Order: sequence, then C-alpha cells, then structure tokens
Amino acid sequence: MRECDILVVGCGPAGLSAAQYASRAGYSVIATDALAPGGQMLYIDEIENYPGEEKTSGYALSEKMEKQAVSFGVDIAYSEVTSIEKDGKLFIAHTSDDDIKAKSVIWAAGARHRELGCNGEKEYQGKGVSYCATCDGPFFKGRDVVVVGGGDTALTDALYLSKLCSSVTLVHRRTEFRAQKVLQDRVRAKDNIKLELGKNVQSINGNGKNVESVTLTDGTEIKASAAFIFVGIIPNTEAIRDFAEMENGFIKTDSSMRTSIGGFFAAGDVRTTPFRQVVTAASDGAIAAHSADEWIQNL
Ligand SMILES: Cc1cc2nc3c(=O)[nH]c(=O)nc-3n(C[C@H](O)[C@H](O)[C@H](O)COP(=O)(O)OP(=O)(O)OC[C@H]3O[C@@H](n4cnc5c(N)ncnc54)[C@H](O)[C@@H]3O)c2cc1C
Repeated sequence: MRECDILVVGCGPAGLSAAQYASRAGYSVIATDALAPGGQMLYIDEIENYPGEEKTSGYALSEKMEKQAVSFGVDIAYSEVTSIEKDGKLFIAHTSDDDIKAKSVIWAAGARHRELGCNGEKEYQGKGVSYCATCDGPFFKGRDVVVVGGGDTALTDALYLSKLCSSVTLVHRRTEFRAQKVLQDRVRAKDNIKLELGKNVQSINGNGKNVESVTLTDGTEIKASAAFIFVGIIPNTEAIRDFAEMENGFIKTDSSMRTSIGGFFAAGDVRTTPFRQVVTAASDGAIAAHSADEWIQNL
C-alpha cells in the first residue's frame, strides 16, 4: 500500500491545480489519473479564454500544468480509483494498481458530455461539433449554427449564441422544452432563433474538415457551420456512488469544496457548480487544497 498526505483523483485542471497547491504547501501528494494528465483539456484544439494564455492548445496548457505540479514534488500516478473507504480518520483508495492511504482526498475526476450518437458527430468533434458554447461560440461569429437540446443549458446557450451568430436553429426531440419558462419566453422572442421541435438529428454533414449542414429525421437539411449539442453531462462519480452526498450524480460541496465527508473534498466539473471551465476547475482545485491543508492541521 502506498501512503501520502493528500490523494488527488483526476489530473485535469482541477486536479493538477489542487496537487500543485498542496505540494507547494509541503504535503506529500499523489495525483492519479485513469488515462493521462490533462483531462478534457486534451480535447481542446484551441483555448483562448484561460487568463494569461491568449491562444494555445489544450494539450500545451496541460503539459505546462503537469510540469509545474511535478516541479513542486507531485507524484503523478496512472491508475483508476475504483472505490474509496474510510479507515478511522484516514482514507483508503482502491485503484487499478496499489491501494493508496491518505489523510485527505480531493476528488477531481471531472465529467463527460452525453453524445447524441448520430452520424457525423464523432467525425466532426473539434471541427464544428461542440458541447460548450462559451468555449467554441466565438469561433462561429456571424455564422449559422444549430443547437440541440431542450433543457436549461441548451436554451441558455442558444441565447448566448444568438448574440454572436447570424442564426441559431434550436432542435429538440420533444414538442415541449424542459427548460425554465423564462428561458423559453426569451428564446421565442429572439428573431434569429428558429425552432425545430419534435425532431431528432439524423446526421451532421461536412466536407471532412468543417461542418456544413445538419440533417433532421424528417429530412430537413439545415445549413450550419457548427452543431452545439447539449443533451446532458455525466459526472465521473461511479466509483464513489454511495460515499459522499450528491445531486444528480454531481458531488455537493460548499464554497470551500467541502463535501458531506470530513477530509474528502471535490473540485471542478464533478461538483455541483453553475459554470464548468478550465479556469473555474483550476480555481476549485486551489480552494480544495487550501481546505485539505486546514483539515490535516486539525487532525
Ligand atoms: C472539446 C472541449 C472543449 C472545451 N473548451 C474549453 C475552452 O475553450 N475553455 C474552457 O475554459 N473550458 C473548455 N472546456 C471545458 C474544460 O475542459 C473543463 O471544464 C475542464 O477540463 C474540467 O476540469 P476538471 O479537472 O474538473 O475535469 P477533467 O478535465 O474532466 O479531468 C478529470 C480527469 O479525471 C480522470 N478520472 C476520471 N475518473 C477517474 C478515476 N476514477 N480515477 C482516476 N482518474 C479519473 C479523467 O481521466 C480526467 O483526466 C472544453 C471541454 C471540451 C470537452
């Protein structure tokens, strides 16, 4: 069994930031990732909204964050945490390799977007298919785009895109939206948002490099440079289902990243939060490390 003061689960921006802060404060830190350090940043072709980085790739930003964390002494591990249990005041994490004993755990395992599963969706990811309007909307300024979904996120982001794009076609499989009434009223009042209700997306089409249109199940073809898909987000909490208190699968925290379990903190996309970005994840990580520091000092 390996031992450390603070175990960080997930090496996306939340985890790398938490690990860096904790290690710099003098704690022994293991940060482990089931795949590779970087998390969702590895899928960002171009990021232009991380403060201090005018334009860079998500991969380059990941490398910098990892290098900085390692320079402060973080031990990066490549294993998946499959469950966590309490052992007195300590925690034991069972992983795909060794078990790890820690005084505090920061769960920063992120989330993944639910996919539509239509033809062309995978092929055009990063080439016009997007799951984040704040991230990619500005790349489609003045263009025609499609938004798919009927919940609060889909309608909020359709409104956001309607300010940047020349037209937004909002496609929803049902004839009624799930989103709040106030959002529905705002969407219906927008001249440049067109509704296609009671229809599914059949395919996302393009020339191999960029999205050019979206075809609906009734055969309608919509000219569009991008398809923004908002049909749900899945938190990576399967391994800790009954451990800490959750809301719709996301870990409930207070503003100090404390969960319902003392010494167990959560940071980034995996927690209940109104905004999921690299900068917010990094900020959560720093706060979680600070709270873990306080917890260990009082053990
Ligand atoms: C295509 C795309 C474009 C984006 N563009 C932008 C943008 O332009 N600007 C912006 O600010 N944000 C953007 N985002 C959002 C941003 O990437 C996320 O909000 C951010 O990465 C969340 O960070 P996180 O550390 O909370 O989680 P993640 O980045 O999801 O990292 C979590 C890590 O935990 C690991 N993990 C999961 N479960 C386990 C486990 N059980 N054991 C061990 N490891 C585990 C995963 O492998 C992953 O590496 C984009 C996202 C995507 C997908």
